[in-house]
Amino acid sequence: METRRIFLKRAGLSTLALSLPFTETLAAMDFQNDHKVLRVAIMGLGSYGSRVADAMINSKRAKLVGVISGTPSKVETWKKKYGIPDKNCYNYENFDEIKNNPDIDAVYVITPNALHKPQSIRVAKAGKHVICEKPMALNAAEGREMVAACKAAGVHLLVGYRMHFEAKTQEVVRQQRAGEFGKTLFFHGLSGFIIGDPTQWRLNYELAGGGSMMDIGIYSINGARYMLGEEPIWVTAQEVKTDLVKFKEGVDETIAFQMGFPSGAVATCLSTYALNNLDKFFLNGTKGFAEMQPSTGYGPIKAWTNKGPIEAEHVTHQTTQMDEMAAIILDGEKPMIPVDGEEGLKDLVIVDAIYKSIKTGEKVMIA
Ligand code: NAD
Repeated sequence: METRRIFLKRAGLSTLALSLPFTETLAAMDFQNDHKVLRVAIMGLGSYGSRVADAMINSKRAKLVGVISGTPSKVETWKKKYGIPDKNCYNYENFDEIKNNPDIDAVYVITPNALHKPQSIRVAKAGKHVICEKPMALNAAEGREMVAACKAAGVHLLVGYRMHFEAKTQEVVRQQRAGEFGKTLFFHGLSGFIIGDPTQWRLNYELAGGGSMMDIGIYSINGARYMLGEEPIWVTAQEVKTDLVKFKEGVDETIAFQMGFPSGAVATCLSTYALNNLDKFFLNGTKGFAEMQPSTGYGPIKAWTNKGPIEAEHVTHQTTQMDEMAAIILDGEKPMIPVDGEEGLKDLVIVDAIYKSIKTGEKVMIA
């Protein structure tokens, strides 16, 4: 059995294939062989979409094969730059037709936050795996709809949590889980940058669904969860605005927030669009500590503990992410830190609680 499992894995077969009778598995082999590489279409050819596309050039398991865009001139540029055929190019009106395209396995949604839910659900209904950028949606209710739609369609829903595959982050998490820091009772997360152009979608409530919290603060929420290895049970939050013109109703500039965990651990965090170089995680336990700065930028990430620096080669985050996501989708691999829709949903539940706490001025319990 072990030999067969290794053989199937080398052939790029999924765990789904493992449940088929061996003869059927062999029949599916050629088809599956084509899938050894995850063939990806990017939706939204903006700044992060371009970064992911460039990173995928060096990916061993994922290949950019298609685009979905509302801007024909961008499609022309991408076709030439990445060798994308006409038949794999779509716009926002016709991309449901991707269901008839056997040469695309997954669509990576890299558009403004408010579009993630409707676009991801359309992708799922077209029978393609969904990779969606963070925040997965505008709130937990939307997130649940996405999880349900992908489940109903039998496709994966993965969220672009690139830090979950970053080597130094993984080493800190490994040490925390191994008890190297003792009982970890405190996390400090700082996430921020100064936002520029006041006309950009990130400062438009309709498209962003909030402000710094939806964009950068979510890294501290997510980081607290993976660094402590547990889920918060309560949240308190306070909002501060120094620029009422730039940060309109519903668009937060700065939020301080705190989370409490079942073990008794607490997290204190800051999310802001008003300070640069704010990118730091600190974890303290009864036996030691870990510190990361920068902790979630594009890297290289720097990390050290009470025992000294953590050394690991810097690899472009999005290259590793796409390789690992291909292994999840094609081989049924389980990542050390989850990146599925349920994981994205957990962050959105906390985002909802943070906004509720600001509105009510009260501590919000998380069920
Ligand atoms: P961007 O503005 O550079 O690109 C957005 C793209 O969406 C553009 O190509 C734009 O044309 C397209 N688009 C489609 N419909 C649109 C509409 N109605 N309004 C505005 N633009 C529309 O933004 P970005 O920085 O690439 O961010 C896109 C997503 O990626 C966001 O959800 C963001 O949170 C996420 N992101 C993630 C990371 C990360 O490290 N994981 C980094 C940056 C951005």
